[in-house]
Amino acid sequence: MAETLFVVSLLAVFVLLGLLLYNLIRRTGRAWKIGVYLLAAAVLATGAASAIPGTSLPAGQNPVATAPANTGAPSATSTPGAGTGTATTTSPRSGTGTTTPASVDTETAATAMPPVLTISYIDVGQADSILVELPNGQNMLIDGGNRADSDTVVNCIRSRGMKRLDILIATHPHEDHIGGLPAVIQTFDIGQVYMPAVTTTTNAFADMVAAMQAKKLHAVAVTGGMVLSLAPMAAGQPTLSATFLAPNANSYEDLNDYSAVLRLVYGGTSFLFAGDAETVSEREMLAAGYNLRADVLKVGHHGSDSSTSPGFLQAVKPQYAVISVGRDNLYGHPAPSTIAALKAAGVQIYRTDYQGTIVATSDGQHIRFNHPAWTPATVATSPTGTTSGANTTTGTAGSAAVVIAAVDLKREVVTITNQGSTTADLSGWLLLSVQGGQHFTFPAGVTLGPGQTLFVVSGKNPTPGPGRLIWPQGNVWNNEGDPAQLYDAKGNLVSSYPR
Ligand SMILES: [Zn+2]
Repeated sequence: MAETLFVVSLLAVFVLLGLLLYNLIRRTGRAWKIGVYLLAAAVLATGAASAIPGTSLPAGQNPVATAPANTGAPSATSTPGAGTGTATTTSPRSGTGTTTPASVDTETAATAMPPVLTISYIDVGQADSILVELPNGQNMLIDGGNRADSDTVVNCIRSRGMKRLDILIATHPHEDHIGGLPAVIQTFDIGQVYMPAVTTTTNAFADMVAAMQAKKLHAVAVTGGMVLSLAPMAAGQPTLSATFLAPNANSYEDLNDYSAVLRLVYGGTSFLFAGDAETVSEREMLAAGYNLRADVLKVGHHGSDSSTSPGFLQAVKPQYAVISVGRDNLYGHPAPSTIAALKAAGVQIYRTDYQGTIVATSDGQHIRFNHPAWTPATVATSPTGTTSGANTTTGTAGSAAVVIAAVDLKREVVTITNQGSTTADLSGWLLLSVQGGQHFTFPAGVTLGPGQTLFVVSGKNPTPGPGRLIWPQGNVWNNEGDPAQLYDAKGNLVSSYPR
């Protein structure tokens, strides 16, 4: 029926064309013009004929995209790593919602742009939820925000045209990471669930378990070193792999340290998702000798000072950091010391509280963000900047002159001197032990006059006294060598030792 209609309309076109030509010949009589029209008619006829169902398509006009990312077969089963004994199978892709280019020329597929990895750090306030659209066509969700974020997360996944999540990772059973997952599990077709082997007695956890049971889902227990089973990339495409780097112990004091930490590598680009892993877990990852390098670090525990220890940051060496955090949250996240440490390492920072959902894309070579990096200058929430005493001056004039004059690693004494001519307000300043990964925050009201010196004293039994501030964390400084850094309350590096 459709074919008959098509042929009839084609004939009508030819009749019109004929009339047009006849008219032209009558008016001009110029032979070359007729030639042009005849040529146009021939081209039109060829194109129309090839569009009739059943006839062959010229290359480049195939309406069906043939990008390799859409052709993936179910991957072979692969072991998730020692310790769990559960083999994971990657299910076939649903076929919808993949992020392949709109059309790919069959003849140029070999030289076409590689498929794109898209990572959305969803703005879920003081919580985590990260949607990963893998370049092999699979979809992964890392955490689901608070229960109140259920709609936000579900809608974000829906907006990408997804009906299925091939991989679901619940980093650890705190509500700000699993609260929205029951809704996600109920709404979408779920492939394999990954979570650490730990339980809690909260409603959030019970709800997630119930949602999983209702869909007969079983979780693979995550341990450091486990390789995530992914559908393969097509030949000639950049390689794709994902490895869990934590947890590395069976029990922790803090639930955060159970966090499943994932490192994703696509071609020459790499991403680390640190969950809420804190210093204890970071030390274990370092000790395990894993490759922690990543271009983009999802900063651990919303940027709190209990994560992103100097050694860990040094090993990851990120170019970009994403902090998933709620504005004006009760915890004071992210910590000024974390911002200062990232800044000192030259890392570009992205924050969901100020910039909303952060989207990073990678073609295997280049990483792009949907926002320019956040700059601390755009937020004036520094506790200093006001004068706190009659003779006290704050700002660069005073701060520039304050230096770490000496660090006695064995006696655990740091000497800080004001070499300037004005009094400096040290309220909220930070002294960082770079190797030991600890920091001391100067209490409010501490000032240092011109030429004055004070001592920050740590160790087992630090002796109090005039001009001595006690750092009550036991031994802080590594006797083998431990650089010290001093930051003002705005996070600016003021002085380093040794200089
Ligand atoms: Zn959290």
